[in-house]
Amino acid sequence: MIKKILIIEDEVKIARFLKLELEHEGYLADTVHDGREGLEKAVGESYDLIILDVMLPSLSGMEVLRRVRQSSEIPIIMLTAKDDITDKVMGLDLGAQDYMTKPFAIEELLARIRVIFKLKSPSPSSSESKVLKCGKLTVCPDKFEANYNGTPIALTKKEFELLHYLMLNKNMLLTRDTLLEKVWGYEYAGDTNIVDVYIRYLRSKIDQKFEDKIIYTVRGMGYQIKDE
Ligand code: CA
Repeated sequence: MIKKILIIEDEVKIARFLKLELEHEGYLADTVHDGREGLEKAVGESYDLIILDVMLPSLSGMEVLRRVRQSSEIPIIMLTAKDDITDKVMGLDLGAQDYMTKPFAIEELLARIRVIFKLKSPSPSSSESKVLKCGKLTVCPDKFEANYNGTPIALTKKEFELLHYLMLNKNMLLTRDTLLEKVWGYEYAGDTNIVDVYIRYLRSKIDQKFEDKIIYTVRGMGYQIKDE
């Protein structure tokens, strides 16, 4: 059964991005940009999950949540502003299943949706838990570890996430935009300089340190990790 998800988010760009990503994952997704309309759709139609922004015009996300809960136990993930503890606590008290703090990486939201639907990761043993290898470089996502020829590489969280994503898509050209979207999330849209900066960090810790060529630049396009 295909799951149906309602996105109630007034920022049109974010709503459209979420819809595309959810559809890409195989869900059906509808978007509405206002609280009152969202509430009508949430109670009037049948959905499997609601993604609900807190700050909405005409009716706040909290009010939508409160009213939906009067008649339905549908799972709801709230989108809250950065570090707004009050919103998180209130949302959970009112019966939200989970919340995401903006800005968030889309992969994290997708993972949480899978948890709610109790679905496994698309390829649990082959991508998430398996040790990834490229030449002498190994990345172990479960342990959050990267090694070169047995020597541990100290990476920050973002560096690790970028390396992990490159390794998951080994031998594929990844554009700056793709990397930005998958590793950083929509909030950084357009600002691809950050990708170049983090590629430099990775190269200094891997390519240069171990005098090996791991991360390739595809001029004018993006980056890739190649198995030679
Ligand atoms: Ca909003």
